[in-house]
Amino acid sequence: MTGSTTAAIRLDDVSVPADRLVGDRGRGLSIALAALDSGRLGVSAVAVGLAQSALDVAVRYAGEREAFGRPIIDHQGVAFLLADMAAAVESARATYLVAARRKDAGKEYGRQASIAKLVATDAAMKVTTDAVQVLGGAGYTREFPAERYMREAKVMQIFEGTNQIQRMVIGKALAREAAAS
Ligand SMILES: Cc1cc2nc3c(=O)[nH]c(=O)nc-3n(C[C@H](O)[C@H](O)[C@H](O)COP(=O)(O)OP(=O)(O)OC[C@H]3O[C@@H](n4cnc5c(N)ncnc54)[C@H](O)[C@@H]3O)c2cc1C
Repeated sequence: MTGSTTAAIRLDDVSVPADRLVGDRGRGLSIALAALDSGRLGVSAVAVGLAQSALDVAVRYAGEREAFGRPIIDHQGVAFLLADMAAAVESARATYLVAARRKDAGKEYGRQASIAKLVATDAAMKVTTDAVQVLGGAGYTREFPAERYMREAKVMQIFEGTNQIQRMVIGKALAREAAAS
């Protein structure tokens, strides 16, 4: 996120020429909300990539670093941590691909995109935090990318709608689907 400048913009009494309208007049909110569904797929994919990178760094380090006479990956406590990280990455990847395939097929995918955003960004937060743990003190330093992955995972739980908001979207979609069936 270091390369992405963040600022607030404020629009007051802006005149938009008719030939510059995006979609129909009065439908702005629904167009903006639809853009969020698509954006949530992008955030999910980035979160999975981030988690995969953190896992790769952790596995590599655990194979090289020795403690108590053997590589730390040979200590079951570390291997189990890595195994849980790998399971979280694969589960998150499968979840966002379900939503992305629905979008590609022209199906409704808002609920699935929110589920993917929630699952993938929570997985990225957990996996990147555990990667710092696997690297021990080195993980906390800027000599390795693990601490940067952890900071970047955090914002993903916040933007494109916080993960609390994803739960609201999912809950409302479930209620709508139940009422319609
Ligand atoms: C790096 C970065 C880039 C961003 N880029 C963009 C961008 O490109 N475009 C854009 O439009 N915005 C962008 N944002 C804004 C981002 O989408 C918002 O910060 C985010 O949606 C949360 O809104 P907020 O900060 O106003 O939090 P608030 O709404 O003040 O929420 C604060 C806390 O309360 C919780 N909360 C609020 N309401 C409820 C509720 N009803 N139930 C339960 N919990 C609730 C939230 O989940 C959160 O934990 C960006 C933010 C960051 C940090």
